[in-house]
Amino acid sequence: MGIGLRLRVYNTLTKQKEEFRPLRDGEVRMYVCGPTVYDYTHLGHARTYIAFDVIRRYLEHKGYIVLMVMNFTDIDDKIIRRANETGEDPKELAEKFLRYFLEDMNALKVKPADIYPRVTEHIEEIIDFVKKLEEKGYAYEGSDGVYFEVQKFKDYGKLSGIKLEELRKGARVEPGEGKKNPEDFALWKKAKPDEPKWESPWGEGRPGWHIECSTMSSKYLGESFDIHGGGNDLIFPHHENEIAQSEACFGHEWVKYWLHTGFLMVNGEKMSKSLGNFVTIRDLLKRYSPEVIRFFVLQRHYRSPLDYSEEGMKHAKNNLERLYNTLENIRIALERAEISFRWDSEEFELYEIIRSARRKFYDAMDDDFNTAEAMKPIFEVANGVNRYLSKVERPKESVLRKALEFFKAVGEVFGIFEDYFREEKTGEEETLIQLLIDVRAQLRKAKNFALADKIRAELKEMGIQLEDTPQGTIWKRIKI
Ligand code: AMP
Ligand code: ZN
Repeated sequence: MGIGLRLRVYNTLTKQKEEFRPLRDGEVRMYVCGPTVYDYTHLGHARTYIAFDVIRRYLEHKGYIVLMVMNFTDIDDKIIRRANETGEDPKELAEKFLRYFLEDMNALKVKPADIYPRVTEHIEEIIDFVKKLEEKGYAYEGSDGVYFEVQKFKDYGKLSGIKLEELRKGARVEPGEGKKNPEDFALWKKAKPDEPKWESPWGEGRPGWHIECSTMSSKYLGESFDIHGGGNDLIFPHHENEIAQSEACFGHEWVKYWLHTGFLMVNGEKMSKSLGNFVTIRDLLKRYSPEVIRFFVLQRHYRSPLDYSEEGMKHAKNNLERLYNTLENIRIALERAEISFRWDSEEFELYEIIRSARRKFYDAMDDDFNTAEAMKPIFEVANGVNRYLSKVERPKESVLRKALEFFKAVGEVFGIFEDYFREEKTGEEETLIQLLIDVRAQLRKAKNFALADKIRAELKEMGIQLEDTPQGTIWKRIKI
């Protein structure tokens, strides 16, 4: 549980930071728009999903139980188009990329949503939702589908600030479209030849895009919930239309806090599939560890744009490496640390750094999840620890443990340092590696350098690094 408890979040709906008060005490119900699964996940998606992962982790860290739902758009124009291009069945194509997405998120240590509803498994609920909108007079049937009549919903535009008149300027109903007004959007699309389709009161067809999120979020989170999120590009029309559908249907305010992430940019443009300027998570993971990718993303506040570059990635890698080195230094120092029968000025100095860093970390996270600011005190502690260790002969265990506890808390929130804290060196492992270190030392004495080097090289292959120091050979796990 963090200190402070005064979390403030920027709400796109009110365009200001507000104190965060969930609808039900101690619980946060949260819906994040998931991907349309027709291609590999790229770093742009990962930016958004890592941001929401950290938001979720922080809420959990503060003691909330979080119920998180993320949808999969597994039927849509883009999926059908791609399937036609590749000659695959749209259902199989979507299934394949849905699995890849889950694998990618798992690799990036993004905690899984509690529920992942898929459009194709909620057709009945979607039809019921559209029927309700029809009954309430917000929807009408046209020649090619069922539409939501935007002008009937008086609050239209409250999220994005867009005005009906603006939408109408220069817009017209295209020939062949069955809608009354250019701004009306499809709730149900009547089937075209050779497209996946389902039975409905309006004949065979499939759902429009926006209706899935209104239907599936309310099914699992109720008719009002706390947080709805997605990338900036979803504010209009997707989220604006979701609000119109849901509030028209339920007759009351739907979502309390709307959170949106800034874009991941490449040379001034949004990273996207259509621009072809994307780097897939799979490719990136061949060059960087998941934690480096997370660290790169978290170096900016989630609402700011983030520029992707190789230098930026390398910078993140180096910075994370510095922190890992500090963690390793603590581990080694703990072996020679002593019980704290007394503290001197050095200990108090380090304690003071940790105390103030903890405060800064939680203050930054409470300020609309500002990970960019929250990162600074992590380095203050790392520098403080290294300075402390360079000054004292026999470090005190308790103050080092305070630093470790801080790193552990930060790690839980950012989704880093996981392996360090999970993989405490086990007794057995320690004994076996120590044995190899001793054998290697004897081989070196006997001038059998080839075999000694082989031991070192093979251990490195296994992710275990030997380091010869004046105090003898030590080992550490290579993480980066
Ligand atoms: P899509 O599969 O295109 O529907 O996108 C899934 C999610 O990823 C949405 O919330 C998008 O806003 C988000 N997203 C896509 N591209 C980027 C990007 N370059 N930067 C940040 N978020 C993105
Ligand atoms: Zn959505």
